[in-house]
Amino acid sequence: MIIEVDKDADAGAVAALCDSLATGDDVAAWPVSIGGRRFVAVSGDEARVPDVDAAIVVGRHSTNARGYWFVDRANGVTPSTVNVGDVPVGRGPLWCAAGPCALESFEDAVATGLAVRQQGAHALRIGIFKPRTSPYNFQGKQGPGVKLLPELKAAVGLPVVTEVLDPRDVGLMAEVADCLQVGTRNMTNQALLKELGGAGRPVLLKRGYRTPVEEWLRAAEFIVAHGNPAVILCARGISSFDNSLRFMPDLGAVLAVRERTGLPVVFDPSHSAGRVDAVARVALAAAAFGVDGLLIEAHIAPQRMYQPGDGGQAYDPTKISDLMAACTAARDITAGL
Ligand code: PEP
Ligand code: MN
Repeated sequence: MIIEVDKDADAGAVAALCDSLATGDDVAAWPVSIGGRRFVAVSGDEARVPDVDAAIVVGRHSTNARGYWFVDRANGVTPSTVNVGDVPVGRGPLWCAAGPCALESFEDAVATGLAVRQQGAHALRIGIFKPRTSPYNFQGKQGPGVKLLPELKAAVGLPVVTEVLDPRDVGLMAEVADCLQVGTRNMTNQALLKELGGAGRPVLLKRGYRTPVEEWLRAAEFIVAHGNPAVILCARGISSFDNSLRFMPDLGAVLAVRERTGLPVVFDPSHSAGRVDAVARVALAAAAFGVDGLLIEAHIAPQRMYQPGDGGQAYDPTKISDLMAACTAARDITAGL
């Protein structure tokens, strides 16, 4: 349940309201402030939430039907633009975060970062902690990589988007990264989502590859309800019975989340396509569906990337400017049709 309180209510009155709601029966309540509005979020059986008659209460909203309320566009609470570094994502020019799958060679990461920056990318994407499907594959540079990130960022001159796998790493990663990514395999990790609520950094939330759109929105709600409204949804491919592409790009999801939420929506063509010759095609399709931006894996020398890995889908950084121009045109064309 969400209880909206007077925006001028003092913190003591809000804390007292939380206390009077959480009187037992496994009901918990905590304050949330978003965009000048004030709320108390309540978890538990709504029938057991006391019907308190505090003067500061403006409205009570059941969350039973959908499981989300803050990210519902009808309520106008979450922002439709989220800044990564100084660049707004959403309702404006097509945003692009590009870069290597993972930090492997520092020199290659810098060279790739400089190449994507020169091509007009707005952020560097790079993995330090890698979610891998085998324990025997490279797991990312992890701790030592976190230490290298400030140097990499300074050398490239772009804000960094990077994945956080473990709730215990959120604080550390928030110090060095500009945007924290939740990967497709971790989208349902509620402990991580709650921790990201306090990260003080924007979160790029990928859709789980086996997750319905409604569950993806509830994952976003976890982050917002725990204090962080700066969520960018990142659509991608999902599992299907066919594997012509690594994952089936789900473009309908772009329309669905546009209808249900105001949050910015970007697309990752790389982990949908799984092969470099399909990346631009999937990116164009996503642009035609009106996404706010793209997350693209790129590398100056894919043949040097570790195996097994994503070398086969690494895009040529020198083509990013042309790709973005084409995608912007595709987005504009379909917007007018
Ligand atoms: C990534 O973007 O680095 C990544 C691992 O993507 P996904 O979680 O979508 O597989
Ligand atoms: Mn990858």
